[in-house]
Amino acid sequence: MRGSAPLPPGSTIGILGGGQLGRMTALAAARLGYRCHIYAPEPEAPAADVAAAWTRAAWEDEAALERFARQVDVVTLEWENVEPAALRLLARFVPVRPAAHVLEITRDRLAEKTFLRERGFPVTDFLPVDRPEDIERAVRELGVPLFVKTRLFGYDGKGQWRVERPEDVARAAAELAGRPAIAERAVDFRMEVSVVTARGVDGERASFDVVRNDHEGGILRRTTAPAPISADLAREAVRLAEGIAAALEVVGLLAVEMFLGRDGRLLVNELAPRPHNSGHWTIDACITGQFEQHVRAVCGLPLGSPARLFDAVMENLLGSEVETWARWIADPGARLHLYGKREARAGRKMGHVTFLRPRSG
Ligand code: AMP
Repeated sequence: MRGSAPLPPGSTIGILGGGQLGRMTALAAARLGYRCHIYAPEPEAPAADVAAAWTRAAWEDEAALERFARQVDVVTLEWENVEPAALRLLARFVPVRPAAHVLEITRDRLAEKTFLRERGFPVTDFLPVDRPEDIERAVRELGVPLFVKTRLFGYDGKGQWRVERPEDVARAAAELAGRPAIAERAVDFRMEVSVVTARGVDGERASFDVVRNDHEGGILRRTTAPAPISADLAREAVRLAEGIAAALEVVGLLAVEMFLGRDGRLLVNELAPRPHNSGHWTIDACITGQFEQHVRAVCGLPLGSPARLFDAVMENLLGSEVETWARWIADPGARLHLYGKREARAGRKMGHVTFLRPRSG
């Protein structure tokens, strides 16, 4: 595929990353007649179980990346910690959506918050942390409580520490062990919400409804669609998400996580330029699910309708909770999704269940 001509069904989509997001992307792609080729270094890849091909190689393996690029028609990703250098290498052979410049921003918490602030999007106050003394400086300048987070490779609450008492400073510094980080003021929030928005090759946009997210221990526990917020706030959240997607020039999905503060203001917390856990409800509750929407966007097809047909609550099945599957498969109001992971480690995302109810409004 060259330029923005649509990539027709029958073509091959390369997906970087082999987890459940890649698996559900491959399933949606297969329904539209595409083949998927997974690139993932791990010995187990839930995405590869449902894909046409799998390159199992390291992210640094340039020869493997080039071979992969020559076998696919477009490259997308389900894991945003891919090195931008790998994306630039792939882009010499094939369109990469989203492009390396998006990942350079969104995989680095400092670059991401700096970009958002410079472009006028609301974020909590933050400071870079390069040395242990910077945490003390952040405590003085931003106050407590604050969060110290590693700049790279943070997910599901990993690589982040809440700093409130003096001893927390030393603990965060010790556990950071010299990794570059960011310190940000804790937000006193009423709830956490997110918007999954899609942006097409030509800038077309479509957003799913704003949802409420409940986290436990930094991991998403439950998503409620729609979020119980006013129509004005919902419009504002969608406006922010679409504005950020346009500013980043994303092609594909962009998930925008936000805090709704007790003061009624929305603050952007985190961006993910890919399908997102808080969008899983759309598979069963919307005309077009997030994975199909991602496939449409990266293949240059027209975006589908994101309209919500049902109200939905999505519950993650974490670790041994997956053993409850028999209950959900027997429940006529539940839609069960299992990721085929063999080992149910504590906190690991093993599947999810979406409960549907008639649409309220
Ligand atoms: P993150 O990895 O940045 O999405 O953070 C994981 C979870 O930690 C968030 O969903 C919040 O529940 C909490 N959290 C992170 N940063 C902040 C903050 N600045 N203020 C309040 N809560 C936060």
